Amino acid sequence: MRKLIDPYGRQITYLRIAVTKRCNLRCVYCFPTGAEISDKADLLSGEEIINIATKAVACGITKIRFTGGEPLLRKDIISLITRTAAIKGIQEVALTTNGIFLADYAKELKKAGLKRVNVSLDSLRPEIYEHITKKHCLNDVLHGIKTASQEGLEVKLNFVVLEGVNDMEQRDFIDFCKRNGYKMQFIKKMDFSRGKESSGNGDGSLFHRPPDCRLCNKIRLTSDGLLLPCLFSKETVNIRDYKDEDRAIARVVSLKPKNGCTAVRKRSMIHIGG
Ligand code: SAM
Repeated sequence: MRKLIDPYGRQITYLRIAVTKRCNLRCVYCFPTGAEISDKADLLSGEEIINIATKAVACGITKIRFTGGEPLLRKDIISLITRTAAIKGIQEVALTTNGIFLADYAKELKKAGLKRVNVSLDSLRPEIYEHITKKHCLNDVLHGIKTASQEGLEVKLNFVVLEGVNDMEQRDFIDFCKRNGYKMQFIKKMDFSRGKESSGNGDGSLFHRPPDCRLCNKIRLTSDGLLLPCLFSKETVNIRDYKDEDRAIARVVSLKPKNGCTAVRKRSMIHIGG
């Protein structure tokens, strides 16, 4: 079995693939104000995604997460998950979604081979949820989460803590997850203009993410084919510039910085894929 080792000795086993830039929410911390986001002609095709995923697994990747934008907006998402779960050597296929369409898709996702789903849920209060996401759809998301759990998917909820907006809900959120058997993680809001997490929001002792850079095992692929060594890195490797994807993957691993905050890229999460 091949291994991908970066210049700091970290083994890279995890690839996050953004399958679209489009999203049906407009979260204040994610979506740039006034932006028009579309996939245009440079969107990776299903074949390209499966080809890269297959090569990545052959190189030593064992876990692939589909994200976006909103991955459930992509028409071929079930086929992508089915085909990725069937790649020889893959150990885990995961999905991060805002949950709006999760109730519709949960059964098919489970059948496709998905075991776990992460759902973004930044408030349990309708007015705060709407303030953050600009959409009145908390009930759809809660219904989606419940349906996914009933279908046998392991559910983890992502809560981005925003000072003075939802930080007062942290304890309620922990109780909600305990009551319903969901895993959860509190995420520090990242400031992409400064290449680090924002300070001063919420109870610091409760944060799960960002993780320690010393333990980083990840690379990312944007929906238009750019491999990124780190969320914050200025470096990119365009998969379409390489005839042989193995070399593109090896190149991006060689570019991994020791610490994400040393290189600042001015891009929001919607462009990168969360
Ligand atoms: N649409 C899907 C969703 O809502 O989960 C997947 C994409 S979203 C960009 C993936 C994750 O990125 C979400 O959990 C979201 O909360 C997180 N995210 C986006 N912008 C962020 C920021 N500025 N700081 C921290 N997390 C962020």
